[in-house]
Amino acid sequence: MYASRMKNLLPYLFARIDEMKAEQQKKGVDIIDLGVGDPDLPTPPHIVDALCKAAKDPANHHYPSYLGMPAYRSAVADWYKTRFGVSLDAGKEVVTLMGSKDGIAHVGEAFVNPGDYVLSPSPGYPVYRTGTLFAEGRVHEMPLTRENGFVPVLADIPKKIAKAAKLIYINYPNNPTAAIAPAGFYSEVVDFARENDLVVVSDNAYSEIAYDGYRAPSFLETRGAMEVGIEMHSFSKTYNMTGWRIGMAVGNAEILAGLGRVKTNVDSGVFNAVQYAAIAALSGPQDCVNQACEIYQERRDVLVAGLRSLGFAVPAPKATFYVWVPVNDCMAFAAKLLNEAGIVATPGVGFGSSGEGYVRFAITRPVGRIREAIERMRRLSP
Ligand SMILES: *Cc1c(COP(=O)(O)O)cnc(C)c1O
Repeated sequence: MYASRMKNLLPYLFARIDEMKAEQQKKGVDIIDLGVGDPDLPTPPHIVDALCKAAKDPANHHYPSYLGMPAYRSAVADWYKTRFGVSLDAGKEVVTLMGSKDGIAHVGEAFVNPGDYVLSPSPGYPVYRTGTLFAEGRVHEMPLTRENGFVPVLADIPKKIAKAAKLIYINYPNNPTAAIAPAGFYSEVVDFARENDLVVVSDNAYSEIAYDGYRAPSFLETRGAMEVGIEMHSFSKTYNMTGWRIGMAVGNAEILAGLGRVKTNVDSGVFNAVQYAAIAALSGPQDCVNQACEIYQERRDVLVAGLRSLGFAVPAPKATFYVWVPVNDCMAFAAKLLNEAGIVATPGVGFGSSGEGYVRFAITRPVGRIREAIERMRRLSP
């Protein structure tokens, strides 16, 4: 019944975790879910108010414009200017997305011919792979290993594959490894993209979730980046707006026109009221973002200290709300956590073959629950 491309879309692993979680819940186990990357904190009230006001205005009840309201795109351009020092033409260099997942999943359709390679980090956000498969491209995994700081070694990509590739995904601050981009990496990416005629898609969903004074850059700050790439960004993590479905793609106008053409043909844009709320988020006070980071930072400190006291060698991440923990067998470890301690963590292999040997903890639960998780782990049999 199903098309053959469906065979390659395997949500099996995550579905299996959900099943195991449901089994435990049925038994009455109090589950501590550190699996999902969905903030537990609410959207700040001034953003919710902006939505409510705009939702009541009948002018907003029609089809929105395909690529986004001019006022929204200007707010995005202004934010990129103040936050990153990157100048964008709101007319041609900003496209509204229904969350960055929308842009990540569809950009391949505009650039990848059947059989073309797409360079994708492993472990990585699963949608890089999904988007490639829908475009009938081939995924070439770039392994992110501890030895290399969880940054792809571009020189390790076979020349033939680099030449036959159309697109490269990069993602810093990184999900799931929580790594940040080292100085100089983005320049290497620009040179590599020029040499091999690649479209660069930088996924910057976590730029605002950072600790210890770290400020994540935009790929577009790099000299030459605007000629080769675009950046996907989102309100989901910054403003606790995962349910709202709004984001933006910014950068090279020609690349964005390709993405825009695909999207014009498959969706009809984002509800204007949600765009007004997003304007309120970008142009309003930003102390809500700092407060969220302080909350995550305390949770990170408790989780990292707890894991270290249990003998795990974990660095304290400088960004994202994940902790990437080395273990022996990630599936066995995640199953043991769930079945013997009622804790959900995500096995690394779910993010690609190079995720084996790790589990990902998301610090999207209150600090008391994280303490409780550590105590439960302390009582686990070896
Ligand atoms: C959460 C996440 C996204 C997508 O978020 P949206 O809600 O679709 O904006 C994109 N990339 C990474 C790496 C993520 O973790």
